Amino acid sequence: MNDIANNLSAVNADIQHALTAAGRDKDIVTLLAVSKGQPVTALEKAYAAGQRAFGENYLQEALLKIAALADKNIEWHFIGPIQTNKTKKIAAHFQWVQSIEDIVIAERLNDQRPAGLPALNICLQVNISNEKNKSGVTPDAVFSLAEQCRTLPNLKLRGLMAIPAPTKIFHEQRKIFHKMQLLFKNLNQAGFQLDTLSMGMSEDLVAAIAEGATMVRIGTKIFGLRQ
Ligand SMILES: *Cc1c(COP(=O)(O)O)cnc(C)c1O
Repeated sequence: MNDIANNLSAVNADIQHALTAAGRDKDIVTLLAVSKGQPVTALEKAYAAGQRAFGENYLQEALLKIAALADKNIEWHFIGPIQTNKTKKIAAHFQWVQSIEDIVIAERLNDQRPAGLPALNICLQVNISNEKNKSGVTPDAVFSLAEQCRTLPNLKLRGLMAIPAPTKIFHEQRKIFHKMQLLFKNLNQAGFQLDTLSMGMSEDLVAAIAEGATMVRIGTKIFGLRQ
């Protein structure tokens, strides 16, 4: 096995251990391989090892990879900040967009989703640590953004995504992910049928899974350092 295949199986084992530790043995956590800054050959190795969902942050870089790997059965997730002039290509080339933080971008993606493609899966990105100048909608504005997105027929609201302020302290990690879990539950109690809680990266995936993550987004632990 090459390094990437080894790393992937180690990360998948970490996910299984975290699920067991959380008493969530029957649950499935989707692993999103975050491949920004990695060459096409790295994605090919991960694909050969069975990985199917890949996350990219930068549109130009992503489009090159999507074209190079067009013959493969890959699910592409856009997870980076979205500028208005990028929405058309994002709507055309991705299956998921996890970094929605305002209705203007959501409406553009909805309007620009090509006819004939299924609805674009979206997550609302939440600025859960309330950090200044960071991406994401504030926790108290999530509900109204979700209501607005619900009316857009070419988008399918799947859930929430967050990148908390980094900390190495496990109970601090859990505390902030717990807030996400509560937001997610509140939305579902209000009638949204969300199935995706996207949280947890290389350094905090155990805490995220303990707090109900259904998708983790892992880059460095699979591919090593970015170029
Ligand atoms: C880069 C990135 C990741 C992966 O981070 P690692 O620390 O390399 O695992 C996950 N989510 C988002 C939104 C990212 O931009």
